[in-house]
Amino acid sequence: MTVERKPTIREAYVEASSFLQGHRVNEAASCAELLLQHLCGWSRSELLLRWQELFPVERLEEWRRLLERKAAGEPVQYIIGEQEFYGLPFTVNPAVLIPRPETELLVEQVVLLGRKLWSDGSARHKRNDVGADHAERAADRKPDMRQAEGELRLQRREPPLVADIGAGSGAIAVTLAVQCPEWRLMSSDISPAALAIARDNARRNGVEGRVAFLEGDLLKPYIEQGLRLDAVVSNPPYIPEADEEGLQPEVRLYEPPSALYGGKDGLELYRRLIAQLAELAAMPSLVGLEVGMGQASAVAQMLSAAAKWDEVQIIPDLAGIDRHVIAVRYNEPEMQTGSVE
Ligand code: GLN
Repeated sequence: MTVERKPTIREAYVEASSFLQGHRVNEAASCAELLLQHLCGWSRSELLLRWQELFPVERLEEWRRLLERKAAGEPVQYIIGEQEFYGLPFTVNPAVLIPRPETELLVEQVVLLGRKLWSDGSARHKRNDVGADHAERAADRKPDMRQAEGELRLQRREPPLVADIGAGSGAIAVTLAVQCPEWRLMSSDISPAALAIARDNARRNGVEGRVAFLEGDLLKPYIEQGLRLDAVVSNPPYIPEADEEGLQPEVRLYEPPSALYGGKDGLELYRRLIAQLAELAAMPSLVGLEVGMGQASAVAQMLSAAAKWDEVQIIPDLAGIDRHVIAVRYNEPEMQTGSVE
């Protein structure tokens, strides 16, 4: 690219847009704007206010490198290290999936349904089962205290415990923690590198300590700790392996394969996750899953076969694609017969 000798910010933007467009970059203008904001360390409104200032020529080399990376196909979010989700800033790197706008709808639904389910800010649990004892051990409760609470434990009200499976950047769990200060959040991922980013994002958004992060495969860490989850939310990898070739290069070449592919038919992680639900101390009252195109009815059937629900909803995204499957039970959590020894 060529840049005139003393370009303004606006001129640098116009030139960068057409440079990126020439390299067939999608949304070239908005990428140019984001990269310019990143280079200057400015917000969007600051950029618009300072449009006519001179471009910092001493940053020209750096600017060219940013544009080259974008022109080569790297997602702009990895270049600038950030993606906004539900109005909050999330740090991203190639160890995590870039949070997508459709996932905001999943969070929104979970917030709405969760508030309906736990309208007084608490979940009502029967606590006289093996799972509850495990949960209390996990929470380090003293045996004498447990004794003293006696029958009260049967109907004690507690803040709901919501688990986000496959934390990635932490977009789902961190947003839920910000939106619902009365909920307890847990979030797990099999990738330690993803968990490190998710923890950063909890800190960055002021909910450090409100989200407990666990390393492990799907529901395993919760099963092992005997935790009683009120809700399970997940946007698991769901792209069928055979579809890899058809993906946009930005996704295929840059986003982590472990966050993208869901086995042969894309449903592998739903199968495993839904099978694991029965191993939890109790069946959650809410399960909210994001799904790929054409997968909603298969996932809804799997959920319906796994437990009794009051409703299993399929929710389309803004493009009209069935994108979320949400199963809800409005009465008390079912005891899992399998958990009684
Ligand atoms: N939960 C994260 C998100 O929705 C990561 C999902 C994933 O890696 N499949 O963005």
